[in-house]
Amino acid sequence: MSQKIAILGSTGSIGTQTLDIVSQNPEDLQVVAMSCGSNLDLFETQIRKYKPSLVSVGTEDLAKDLKTRLSDIDIQIQYGMDGLIAVATSADADTVVTAIVGMVGVQPTIAAIKAGKNIALANKETLVTAGHIIMPLAKEKGVSILPVDSEHSAIFQSLNGERQNQISKILLTASGGPFRGRSYEELENVTIEDALKHPNWSMGAKITIDSATMINKGLEVMEAKWLFGVNLNQIEVVVHPQSVLHSAVEFMDGAIIGQMGTPDMRLPILYALFYPNRKTLYAEPLDLFKVGTLTFEKPDLETFYGLSLAYDAMDAGGNVPTVFNAANERAVAKFLHNKIKFLEIPEIVSEAMMNVDFISNPTIEQVLETEQMTYDFIESRWQ
Ligand code: NAD
Ligand code: MG
Repeated sequence: MSQKIAILGSTGSIGTQTLDIVSQNPEDLQVVAMSCGSNLDLFETQIRKYKPSLVSVGTEDLAKDLKTRLSDIDIQIQYGMDGLIAVATSADADTVVTAIVGMVGVQPTIAAIKAGKNIALANKETLVTAGHIIMPLAKEKGVSILPVDSEHSAIFQSLNGERQNQISKILLTASGGPFRGRSYEELENVTIEDALKHPNWSMGAKITIDSATMINKGLEVMEAKWLFGVNLNQIEVVVHPQSVLHSAVEFMDGAIIGQMGTPDMRLPILYALFYPNRKTLYAEPLDLFKVGTLTFEKPDLETFYGLSLAYDAMDAGGNVPTVFNAANERAVAKFLHNKIKFLEIPEIVSEAMMNVDFISNPTIEQVLETEQMTYDFIESRWQ
């Protein structure tokens, strides 16, 4: 019997690669629902190819446009947050792939868990802002949260058959991004184009900027804490420019177990969808002879202090990780619209963390309120 999947964000980098995995495994995977923001041309092509019965787009106008385009087929079309939740809770789906970007994914992910769906989680912002709600809820509902993020998939694979209480630390690898080795002053005038040039991975714009600031690694530290139940001081970021070792775990006896591979997101997607099985990935495997050398270095926390802010946010707890994430989302959007300079991204995050009211154990409503308070604070200072 094939596994039925719903995809939040099918037109993005993770979404399209998920569909590629579906195409490689037509007997085993079936797409029953999917959503996108606004790329209707690609979405229409995907719908005609994968034939889901329910789809959703960003706005009512886009939904009307899509209805006209698809007037020849029988399909349910929704929009907005209600549409995302409908896709996430689609009656037929066994697993929801959260390939949407940003904390807009929080409510649909929670709705999916409540509906008993397993989650293949790419949307790390969800765990960063609502991990304290999502992880206990998943446990209560008996659903799995399977990591799609490459580092977390590597950690998950390294933990197979091991005992939680025998982990000494997680070695979370980072490429260092396009600005590795530069000083703070040298980043003063970098452009959007410079920041979008990731050395090893081709990804959506937001996460590519997050990689350039290293805030992505900060989000991943928080994501790892929630997924693997370790303490913050057990997570060490290791800069590894070749992106071959995708992350590793060190155990109490000193053994380090890691996962290596080419930088291809389809591997972690495939692993999450077929866990605990492995399947053939139709792609070029890693050639260690071509790689030759692997190097490791400590992160430069002075230049890339956004990464330190993530540890501070997690240490502070409560709604501070939400403030960290929401401020970063807004700052990255402003940078991508040429409204602020690159170095203002961590500055905005830091200012927001100091200024937005603290809430100790936020409910989901308070997480969303915190998002709004963070946006209001930023608008009051940076137009
Ligand atoms: P992307 O920008 O390429 O795609 C995002 C998708 O979400 C698109 O389909 C878009 O239409 C949809 N979307 C965005 N905003 C929306 C909204 N408000 N309403 C409805 N739909 C909306 O992003 P991506 O690079 O694929 O990243 C997706 C998630 O996966 C992010 O959380 C990212 O951090 C994580 N991730 C990505 C990669 C990667 O290689 N791209 C690797 C690891 C983790
Ligand atoms: Mg990652």
